Amino acid sequence: MSATRQISVEETRKIPPPDPDREPLKANVYERMAKAAAQLTPLFPYDHAGAIVPCGSVIIGGPGQDYGHFFHWNTACEVIVSYGSQGSALDSGQVMAAQKLHGVNSFLRDQEDPDSFGVIVVTQHQSRDGDQSEAMIARCAKCASEIVRHAYDATPSGLPGFDAEHHGGEDDPVRQFATMVGSVEFARLRNTDVGRTCAECGHVNDEFPDTPWGWARQVAQTRTAIQAHRVLRGAAHHTTASEEVARP
Ligand SMILES: [Zn+2]
Repeated sequence: MSATRQISVEETRKIPPPDPDREPLKANVYERMAKAAAQLTPLFPYDHAGAIVPCGSVIIGGPGQDYGHFFHWNTACEVIVSYGSQGSALDSGQVMAAQKLHGVNSFLRDQEDPDSFGVIVVTQHQSRDGDQSEAMIARCAKCASEIVRHAYDATPSGLPGFDAEHHGGEDDPVRQFATMVGSVEFARLRNTDVGRTCAECGHVNDEFPDTPWGWARQVAQTRTAIQAHRVLRGAAHHTTASEEVARP
């Protein structure tokens, strides 16, 4: 029998102290999601390389409700937790590790049932090094052929591949969440005539219901928050500069 080195719990379980530039935060998922603008709302402001990004969703059933269906592909892993659900395929408290390519829908067994709902957290992981890629894919409802594939770069801030132009720079108070920006573009492409029409069987698919996901609203709110902060900073700079000119 070969000698095995004893490994203490301290040695294996030690995590480094928190980054002094990013204080540890706590968030109440019910509080955040009661007021959030979109599904997959990041609960914390940290989305840098190596960060874990828990994102909340509130799925609500009701007459005429339809969340549609699509596939998400991510080079980084995702974990799904239900913080309370009713009439959902995902039970309250259930934890699920998603495959890199996974189908996304409401999880509700009957979306039109007004008593069905789910408060869900999908925790995404930001790449530690190298680029991160994601894709959103739609398939034909009739023949299951791929009708849209929107692949996008999701490299987080802090890595050379990060696109500050699209997602907001270090001086901005908030950043766009790459998955959210990609989702908006996916919904736009999916709802064009070309995106709806299957090249294999010619079936014209129903429009993708983007309203219950709320992505466009959240991207617009984030863009506006960044612009507002830049305008205020510009005004402060302008005021300071004119005071200096006016000073005797
Ligand atoms: Zn088809």
